[in-house]
Amino acid sequence: MGIQQKYCIIFSFLAVMQIICAIQTRKSEKPIGKYTSWLNLTLVIPIAANVIIITSSNKVLSYIGYYASYIGMTLVVLSLILFTNVYCKGVDEDRSHKQPYFIYVLATIDIVQLLLGPLFHHVIKLEKIKLEDNVFYLDVPGAGLTIHRIIDYFILVCVFLIYTVAIIKTSRLYREKYTVILAALLLAGITQLIFIITRYPVDRSVIAHGVSGILIFYFSIIYRPLRLLDTMLSHVVSDMNDTVYVFDNSNKLVWANDNAYKLLDLPHGTRFSKVQKQLFEQFSNITNRGDNWSENRIIGDRYYILEKKSVKSDNLNLDGCFLVIKDDTKRHQEVEKEIFNSKHDSLTGLYNMQYLYSRIHNLLLSSEKDYYILFINIKNFKLINDTFGKHFGDIILIRMSKWLKENIKNGLYGRLIGDTFGVCIPKEDFSEELLQDFDNFIVTFRDLEHKISIHIGIYDVKDKSRDVSIMFDRANLAITDIEENYKTIIRYYNEELKNNILEEQRLSANFGDAVNSGQIFPYLQPIADKNGKVVGVEALARWDHPEFGFLPPDRFISLFEKNGMITDLDRHIWKCACEVLSGWKDTHPDLFISVNISPKDFYFIDVIGEIKSLVAEYDLDPAKLRIEITETAMMSDSEQRIKIFNQLRTAGFLVEMDDFGSGYSSLNLLKDLPVDVLKLDMKFLSDDTNLKSGIIIKNIINLANELNIISLTEGVETREQFDLLVSMNCSLFQGYYFAKPMPVDSFEEFLNNHEKASAE
Ligand code: C2E
Ligand code: CA
Ligand code: CA
Repeated sequence: MGIQQKYCIIFSFLAVMQIICAIQTRKSEKPIGKYTSWLNLTLVIPIAANVIIITSSNKVLSYIGYYASYIGMTLVVLSLILFTNVYCKGVDEDRSHKQPYFIYVLATIDIVQLLLGPLFHHVIKLEKIKLEDNVFYLDVPGAGLTIHRIIDYFILVCVFLIYTVAIIKTSRLYREKYTVILAALLLAGITQLIFIITRYPVDRSVIAHGVSGILIFYFSIIYRPLRLLDTMLSHVVSDMNDTVYVFDNSNKLVWANDNAYKLLDLPHGTRFSKVQKQLFEQFSNITNRGDNWSENRIIGDRYYILEKKSVKSDNLNLDGCFLVIKDDTKRHQEVEKEIFNSKHDSLTGLYNMQYLYSRIHNLLLSSEKDYYILFINIKNFKLINDTFGKHFGDIILIRMSKWLKENIKNGLYGRLIGDTFGVCIPKEDFSEELLQDFDNFIVTFRDLEHKISIHIGIYDVKDKSRDVSIMFDRANLAITDIEENYKTIIRYYNEELKNNILEEQRLSANFGDAVNSGQIFPYLQPIADKNGKVVGVEALARWDHPEFGFLPPDRFISLFEKNGMITDLDRHIWKCACEVLSGWKDTHPDLFISVNISPKDFYFIDVIGEIKSLVAEYDLDPAKLRIEITETAMMSDSEQRIKIFNQLRTAGFLVEMDDFGSGYSSLNLLKDLPVDVLKLDMKFLSDDTNLKSGIIIKNIINLANELNIISLTEGVETREQFDLLVSMNCSLFQGYYFAKPMPVDSFEEFLNNHEKASAE
């Protein structure tokens, strides 16, 4: 094969390669692709032109080939500089925005003067020579060609400069992609220079240009910097919190990250064989375990997650494997802490309610012993919190938890809600003596000292499978109706207690309906004078309950005093009393009715206003409605009460002091109290009936008489008592001796018979 054919094949191949590269580049979505494809396409022109030059034996065709190769070359350097500008953009952002106008101008000048060549013949002349027996036209350069070459080389030098700057400025990893292209371009430039100087008929620099085109295509479109990836990955792995060990396919350690050394307590750079030995000693059973596995290990007080992964190449041969060891201790501790928190009260560290319940449930079911459930309540805790501050409240709770920890040896305990604690204790370990400490439970903090009163409800566990919360509810029930009390109180739950409480709940719920439907009404008990003549009555509440039957007041009065319903009850009875009085206006105009007032009424309503308006409503003489208030009620907050009584008396009502003798008021106080009637109850004085109480009653009556206070004795049951009291100058009498309390109509009948009898 001749030289011409040889080069023709090579050039054609390169031209086709450029076209393929340009097509591939079009497919790529990289922004640089446009420039790369232009470069490849423009390269096709000089390469193809050179094919024409070396194959043609026609002068005109050779001319065309030479001109096409020059113009093509200018286009190549022009697209090269555009490409380079973008390719090296990362190096200098600013430059990339600037268009190389100066170069455009130069290139335009070059192309124009080349195009004028056929006219002025200043570019080349052709010289016919023989090359291996073939006719060949060699170009003889004119001034135009020199201009062309200067311009092209100038542009090329600019390109070299841009690459050189990029190589200097960029990081080591990226230098490769600039250096290779620069080298290829340099090679192309130099071979062309050699061609120009030697005037060898075939321009062999075309090969270097073609190769440069392919390299540029490769580096700008295909190439991904693997070393970059390598370096990046190894940085990532080095910086990882986990430890990483890399083994080759014979299980030899070949790499370890920083933490991998730290984990084994070895200095960085220790020989791999030593690292491996230490690793296998510390974490046994790592090799010979199959390719991929992970497991958790506890070593000492630390938790690790080990994960081994093998790496295989495409043909499924083992390339090696890596072992990742994660120190999971911190997370483990957090999880444990979370679990602990979910079971414990944060303030006292005791079990919280849910967890205590579930522990007790399991204990009861698994144990043969008998148990008590204790519900411990710190009294007035809210008040203490409000008065001394939440911090002091916390101190009390902590103190209580300390007591539990120290004293409940065989049992479970925890904090329920707020100021309540729960205990489950075997009966054999319990005695009330255990709770003696609470009799004098004093909590001190700085200069604060406070005696805490504690109520403890105890439930005897009979059915161990029962819901634990119900057991605690019952233990709690045992202490719920204890009134304010500053002593430690221990109370056992029993069925009666439960029934009472249930009944109370029912009564409270039924109360509203009961008033409206007339189930609650007054009974009247006669009050007589010295002659046994009935002068008035006391109205006493009764409840005819559809389910519980006929209820005396002790079944509901104290309950209603606790829950505040007493006020509604009293108002109802007062109204009934007024109704009765109003009915008596004609028949029994002289009779009075005494009504009871609970001390709670004063808190909730305007007692005077209420009573006054009732009297006005029924148009009654206020003196016919007597107001009874117990001695104890009068004595508490007496100043305020005295004011009210004075107002009542001013309004014309008579005020009676009920149950005199049940409280502790001294007789001396009597003179200051604005009362009209003193009600003495026999039951408070009849402890030792005869002498002593006789003397006391006599003195009270005397004193009352002296102070112009009417004396009334209630609870008079016998003729003897009546006679005695008469001899003591008591004015009024009430008791079973005369009559028990009775319904209004019965009383009216009783009164008729009574009047008849006294008339006879
Ligand atoms: P109290 O006001 O001291 O009423 C007198 C109580 O003694 C009445 O009991 C009456 O039935 C009873 N009694 C009367 N004579 C005798 C007797 O000779 N021997 C004995 N052993 N007892 C006698 P009752 O009706 O059960 O009332 C009990 C308490 O309930 C009353 O004591 C009063 O404190 C309260 N109460 C009754 N009704 C009302 C009311 O409408 N409002 C308020 N706030 N309390 C009421
Ligand atoms: Ca009374
Ligand atoms: Ca009384």
